[in-house]
Amino acid sequence: MIAQTSAGLYCEAGGFHLDPWQPVERAVITHAHADHARPGSGAYLCAAPGRAVLQRRLPDARIDTLPYGESITIGDVRVSFHPAGHILGSAQVRLEHGGDVWVVSGDYKRQADPTCEPFEPIRCHTFVTEATFGLPIYTWDPSALVIEDILGWWRGNREHDRPSVLFCYVLGKAQRILAEIGERADGPIHLHGAMCALTDVYRDAGIAMAPADRITEGMRGKALARSLVLAPLSARGTPWMRRLPHASDAFASGLMRVRGVRRQRAFDRGFVLSDHADWGALLDTIAATGASRVLATHGWSEALARYLAEQRGLDTGILRTAFEGEAGELATPSADGSVE
Ligand SMILES: [Zn+2]
Ligand SMILES: [Zn+2]
Repeated sequence: MIAQTSAGLYCEAGGFHLDPWQPVERAVITHAHADHARPGSGAYLCAAPGRAVLQRRLPDARIDTLPYGESITIGDVRVSFHPAGHILGSAQVRLEHGGDVWVVSGDYKRQADPTCEPFEPIRCHTFVTEATFGLPIYTWDPSALVIEDILGWWRGNREHDRPSVLFCYVLGKAQRILAEIGERADGPIHLHGAMCALTDVYRDAGIAMAPADRITEGMRGKALARSLVLAPLSARGTPWMRRLPHASDAFASGLMRVRGVRRQRAFDRGFVLSDHADWGALLDTIAATGASRVLATHGWSEALARYLAEQRGLDTGILRTAFEGEAGELATPSADGSVE
């Protein structure tokens, strides 16, 4: 049903691409992260709750939407979107053609996230799964504990009038942190300018989040000494940071699970908080789909595919993407925050 082409995954019976990385005629999009939603295609289709975020990322795009769980027929294929639990509006795509059912997961997680609908397992014959953290070392703690740690670190820094700079992705992670903190914020929260537009999209969608103000040009030093500042990783080491003398810095990412990465990147703190499935969640989810064939993509796809073939007896394969390696979690955002 799906073939790999130079532009990305292509569904011939439906005449559309899935998350293509080159401009195509019709693009079906799982979510608005930059490694999944590229500009230049003729028409886009996404899940209805993902529209505003996608439009913000691709201002010129012609976007059609479909509510979660409703299906349409494109060419000879029945297409529907189902929550992926990754970011606001993120979706798995279910494709049905001649009795054969595929589900393309996009990025997903199984932890609760107040900013988006929970992942819904869908039965299928072939499951295309992400594998960003497809190694047994990747296990996540409950996010409530991680948020407690963040609040404790912020409190400690505040006692010494040190700003707390928490680097995180501008789309999804920043808003999830604000939502999880919610009413527990006991000090000022400030946002790097790159975070603001997307955070506004989330607020407009009715997501309850802790109040947070944009850092304006003249704001520096004492004005931010007690703040929790959310900023994209691309701001690290730039002149922008001079407004935050003696800041303690931290990174919120699944990558922070690995001590060597924490040390190598020399953050004061690493908070293990990911919008991707951890190892156990990948295995549980794959089992829940009932799929006999699993195609892995993103990150540790080979390791996951090998495990599933050897330990679970599944028919497996790997789908390469234009964003190989650790795309997504490691990708450095540009100054305007346009890249995840
Ligand atoms: Zn993503
Ligand atoms: Zn991704």
